Amino acid sequence: MKILFSNLILTPDIILYDKAIAFDKKIKDIDDLETLKARYPQAEVLIYENSILLPTFANPHVHLEFSANRTTLSYGDFLTWLYSVISFREELLLKCNQSCLEETLSTLIEYGTTAIGEISSYGDDLVACANSKLKVVFFNEVIGANPATVDISFASFLERFKESQEFKSERFKPAVAIHSPYSVHYVLAKKALNVAKSEGCLVSVHFMESLAEREWLDKGTGEFAKFFKQFLNQTRPINDPLEFLELFEDVPTLFVHMVYANKREWEKVKDSTIIHCPISNRVLGNGVLDLSKPKHYLIATDGLSSNYSLNMFEELKATLFVHPHYPILPFAKELIVKATKEAHKVLGFEAGEIVKGKLADFQIISFEEGIEHFKKKEEMEIYLQLLLHTSKPKAVFIEGENFLERRK
Ligand SMILES: [Zn+2]
Repeated sequence: MKILFSNLILTPDIILYDKAIAFDKKIKDIDDLETLKARYPQAEVLIYENSILLPTFANPHVHLEFSANRTTLSYGDFLTWLYSVISFREELLLKCNQSCLEETLSTLIEYGTTAIGEISSYGDDLVACANSKLKVVFFNEVIGANPATVDISFASFLERFKESQEFKSERFKPAVAIHSPYSVHYVLAKKALNVAKSEGCLVSVHFMESLAEREWLDKGTGEFAKFFKQFLNQTRPINDPLEFLELFEDVPTLFVHMVYANKREWEKVKDSTIIHCPISNRVLGNGVLDLSKPKHYLIATDGLSSNYSLNMFEELKATLFVHPHYPILPFAKELIVKATKEAHKVLGFEAGEIVKGKLADFQIISFEEGIEHFKKKEEMEIYLQLLLHTSKPKAVFIEGENFLERRK
């Protein structure tokens, strides 16, 4: 058992002042330091002065296989980016070997993220994810627009899905990703979704990320028309977007992006969680999601294929600034609650909250200049100041173990 004291604890819904937590793998108790010391006399005591303790983040949408990208891919316009992905895919995948993947996973933890939703396109990331300390929902992705190759694409998906099932555990959950309505044939999507239904796993799908996708699926025109003609000799879209969405009606699904979704599509997904990736949307020229549309949403970084970092502190700051019409104080709090408690809940992990019984996954932010000003602030402002002044936690605990110290 360990006892840890922090000046402020964000549970995250409320703030506790000058309290301590007692924990082993799970959080056992929360009280005054002296009370806990008396109650658990054998426990190791850790004092973090000038600190704020909060749950670690869950990042529900990343593409780790593209972690070797820095400036290789082209930004500014979705189709320009997509052509660059096709040109450099092999090179980037080769560069992202096991050590690149392991380094990226460790960096995620150093930034205070201990759970991810990983979209795996090829399965190259399976072993690194399964062996890491992170909690992972491992979305095996299916892609294939050509009706003639549905069986081959499905067989490849199923093989990867089965391999990922070998690693299934409390902290590693195999899942299913359908790439998008423009790239996955209806029959193929249906077959993969049947696997998700029978296995009871979560599903992820990119939907209406770009204006080009909207134009192509509605009218068969726009920049995608040239793209599909060139690569697949395809002259018409394979799916009607609304019919495509109907496939997901009885499967718990994360809908990613949704920037160009229309009214009827929003109606279809109204009870689902929307994944909002503001930096990725911005750098690929896709604009900004209207946050008044989703009833439930979470923030994610997307992959390093469309972001400069997988650091959730960066993403949350960016979210604050790309939505200037939301009052900044309650919005900052909302974002922290979503990135911790709500994101863990949606991914199905027993963490993300500093309450008795939850896993002891938390991060400690240190303020060398002292914490006194923080303690005098209105509660809501503390969330904002924390976001503005933090890019990295001082320590990250995963199931009671201090990961940063362990790495030294
Ligand atoms: Zn994505």
